[in-house]
Amino acid sequence: MAIQRPKGTQDLLPGTIEQWQYLEETIRSVCREYGYEEIRTPMFEATELFQRGVGQTTDIVKKEMYTFQDKGDRSMTLRPEMTASVCRAYVEDKLYGQPQPMKLYYIGPMFRYERPQSGRFRQFHQFGIEVLGADQPIVDAEVISLVWNLYKRLGLIGLEVHVNSVGCPICRARHREQLQEFLAARKSKLCNDCQERFERNPLRILDCKNPSCQEETVGAPTTKDTLCEDCSTHFEKVLAILGRAGVVYRVNPRLVRGLDYYTKTAFEVMVEEIGAQSAICGGGRYDKLVEEIGGPPTPGIGFAMGIERVLAALQVQHKLPEEKPKLFAMLIAWGEQAQIEGFALLSALRSQGMPVGMDLLGRSLKNQLKSANRQGVRYALILGEEELARKVLVIRDLTLGEQMEVSLVDAVEEINKKYQRGV
Ligand code: ATP
Ligand code: MG
Repeated sequence: MAIQRPKGTQDLLPGTIEQWQYLEETIRSVCREYGYEEIRTPMFEATELFQRGVGQTTDIVKKEMYTFQDKGDRSMTLRPEMTASVCRAYVEDKLYGQPQPMKLYYIGPMFRYERPQSGRFRQFHQFGIEVLGADQPIVDAEVISLVWNLYKRLGLIGLEVHVNSVGCPICRARHREQLQEFLAARKSKLCNDCQERFERNPLRILDCKNPSCQEETVGAPTTKDTLCEDCSTHFEKVLAILGRAGVVYRVNPRLVRGLDYYTKTAFEVMVEEIGAQSAICGGGRYDKLVEEIGGPPTPGIGFAMGIERVLAALQVQHKLPEEKPKLFAMLIAWGEQAQIEGFALLSALRSQGMPVGMDLLGRSLKNQLKSANRQGVRYALILGEEELARKVLVIRDLTLGEQMEVSLVDAVEEINKKYQRGV
């Protein structure tokens, strides 16, 4: 039996890959405009990095990691996300010694052992940014406004930006207490996961996708009621900057990130049309994370965006660019000598940066022309034995149906002129 690709993975083929390239190019331009630089880290890391950097109580670490022993008997894990890796690199490569803040972005595959379904893969891709070494509210606003402007650039509509503040370890302790008090009587009605969360991480119960848990937490005390003055002022400033910059957001007091190193701002972007997996982007501040993985105290904030889900949203909203012809011209040559000459002509055109092609299957003249038309190329460069004998090339405009004859020595220049003019 033929071997199949692993469950939950995809082959990205020509015809689809252009959409990925378009999205990646748009992302890169927006990052350039905001002054973010790319970082690439290994696809696998020491398992401990994610245990510490993502958190032992999270679904990712508890259930979803691709972990293996390597031949040196070290425990390795395919990265399930990249914030921990970026923070590791920040410490290991001493990026704190460079002018601060570090403004970094990445695009790449992540791996989670999840039940594959629409919008949920085992190898999926994220674009993300991280700002390390700056704790001002304006940084939080910049990060959120970058996503907002990326979506605007892509033409996406109907997005919901939810923001919240989860506070700092000091004010969160108070919230945790109030929450446990509120939930104590309802504990038996919560799902098994949430019963476990009750002691270790009650905040996360607010985030449970289970409808019955959501019902039980209606009216639960939110972080809003317990924020300390510092966290509260920070949050108000973030919202004021966002509002002035035209970012439409909604404060969602139930939005949480449950771990101690997540602090202050948390946010998520949703788009309804892509179905149950409607979150296309999640992020927040993590002022205690760099310390957690052994670095100097360093504030940080970032987000991660699911590329597949954004592409799905672009697809349903018909915002993907139309496919364009890939070649500018096709050589239509017949006779061995004409093919040799034509091949040399194509090399000269390609060295000028022009995408051009020729038949590679020994097709008849008629079928070569048909194929050129099918590919939507603008020009057919016709070179038969008779043209070769007269040292000329026929340039046929397949859109207008006109043609002209040029001498072979001038052909590159003539074609290049048309290419530069874009016609
Ligand atoms: P979800 O609630 O959908 O499981 P998450 O909280 O696990 O999301 P994050 O870890 O915050 O997601 O990752 C950021 C983004 O990456 C998500 O908003 C989503 O768009 C995307 N993403 C996460 N897991 C997957 C997956 N298995 N397949 C495809 N995209 C994913
Ligand atoms: Mg998940």
